[in-house]
Amino acid sequence: MNEQVLPPVERFAKIVGDKYTLRDPADIAPHLIEPREIYHGRAAAVLKPGSTREVSEILKLANEMGTPIVPQGGITGMSGGQVPFDERAIVVSTARLDKIREIDLDANTITCEAGVILQRLQEIAHENDRLFPLSLGAEGSCMIGGNLSTNAGGTNALVYGMARDLVLGLEVVLADGRIWNGLRKLKKDNTGYDLRHLFVGAEGTLGIITAAVLKLFPAPRSVETAFIGVKSPQAALDLLRIAQARAGNAVTSFELMKRFGVEMAVKFPPGHRNPLTSPHDWYVLMELSSTAREGLRETAEEILAAGTEAGCVEDATLATSIEQAKAFWHLRLILPEAQKSTSGAIPHDVSVPVSCVPDFIEEASAAVRKTLPNVRPMPFGHLGDGNMHFAVCIPEGMDREVFRAHTKAINDAVYGVVAKYRGSISAEHGVGVQKRERLPGVKDPVELELMRSIKRLLDPKGILNPGKVL
Ligand SMILES: Cc1cc2nc3c(=O)[nH]c(=O)nc-3n(C[C@H](O)[C@H](O)[C@H](O)COP(=O)(O)OP(=O)(O)OC[C@H]3O[C@@H](n4cnc5c(N)ncnc54)[C@H](O)[C@@H]3O)c2cc1C
Repeated sequence: MNEQVLPPVERFAKIVGDKYTLRDPADIAPHLIEPREIYHGRAAAVLKPGSTREVSEILKLANEMGTPIVPQGGITGMSGGQVPFDERAIVVSTARLDKIREIDLDANTITCEAGVILQRLQEIAHENDRLFPLSLGAEGSCMIGGNLSTNAGGTNALVYGMARDLVLGLEVVLADGRIWNGLRKLKKDNTGYDLRHLFVGAEGTLGIITAAVLKLFPAPRSVETAFIGVKSPQAALDLLRIAQARAGNAVTSFELMKRFGVEMAVKFPPGHRNPLTSPHDWYVLMELSSTAREGLRETAEEILAAGTEAGCVEDATLATSIEQAKAFWHLRLILPEAQKSTSGAIPHDVSVPVSCVPDFIEEASAAVRKTLPNVRPMPFGHLGDGNMHFAVCIPEGMDREVFRAHTKAINDAVYGVVAKYRGSISAEHGVGVQKRERLPGVKDPVELELMRSIKRLLDPKGILNPGKVL
């Protein structure tokens, strides 16, 4: 049959083959949802290309036909960027682009395809006596292409930076199907505009990332994990200063949790316990890691002793085994999921200057309570980065739909305080569809116009992830 007269989905199916074209609603269903269950999408089909060449052919055809394309990795994104919202949309899943192309232990780089799952990459780095430091709660399912496209942060950004800081080179398929091979391994390269940073954090609106050169670091030889009770976010911040003064970049994670969150986390699933015997209003999970084999335990103990003396540590315990460290981390990493068990939480992923976090928490908590009495703020997150996940949980006994009706007012209250501190309404989860409407209110008009110009230049027909970000 003449290809031109085939239905659109069948023309795409010819590129990847029938086996890798999902058309049945039951097969497509897992590609239409997202972890928070806020958005539910629709699409004509899901394609699973097996090579960069196939991605290129898909985009060439989509550009010709004006078909909306939604790139997907592990579908763990928190802003709905991965959800298709058009019955003509074609989802391009990168799941089969999962090859490790090269490991260069002299350059300390790994070149991998976009569909490699983050945890697998961490394991491969570990097997090669290296560290790939990006680490987040969804690491068992999120993929490198998704991590780069959302510029993921996670629990190690304090020292190693965000996904953007971990990438040296990219391979990207553009909207018209052209392949940009920017897979360079160079630390130094000042030959004009650094295009890789356009695609990192673009949430699939400027191109599809098909492969990347990522940085590897020396593997730590010792790790110390502490679970610490503190009286306030300010006490936690004071402790961070003490820790950084004594251990510098060995302080690789510094996470803050409210008592309410930890009490929820121990029940999710039941069987976990608070590592400290008596309750505290706030908790810190601090991790130190070092390439030196010895001495880190003493440093951790010194930090806790100095923190106690300064009045910022109420109680603390250091993990004595890897299992115990994992149990500490469970209480922090389960929080995004545990929120759901309250039968309703309105999440916010915001950042303010680190020094302003305590005031932000206090003022945002007061602002949401003024909006809706008895709501239960549950701030947690990456204190060391000034990044709080400021979840606002449903008042006890309130109907979920009644609570949901207050979403805008609660968002306005939180983002109002963020604006006061010149913070960001999306520290690490991206804009997606969730924060798109808010962007014009928080971006400089010139910056926004430049963003729109770049989008028009790279995707003149607007086929790439339409309705997201801009
Ligand atoms: C329990 C849990 C904990 C989390 N913790 C954190 C955290 O600590 N820090 C953090 O930053 N995030 C966190 N997240 C959010 C999420 O895991 C990250 O945003 C992750 O980077 C998304 O990767 P993904 O492969 O799942 O991408 P997807 O969800 O599939 O896609 C996300 C966005 O990227 C685009 N995209 C995906 N792949 C490509 C590609 N190859 N080329 C172009 N565009 C692409 C999509 O179109 C979409 O806009 C968490 C999520 C969960 C569920």
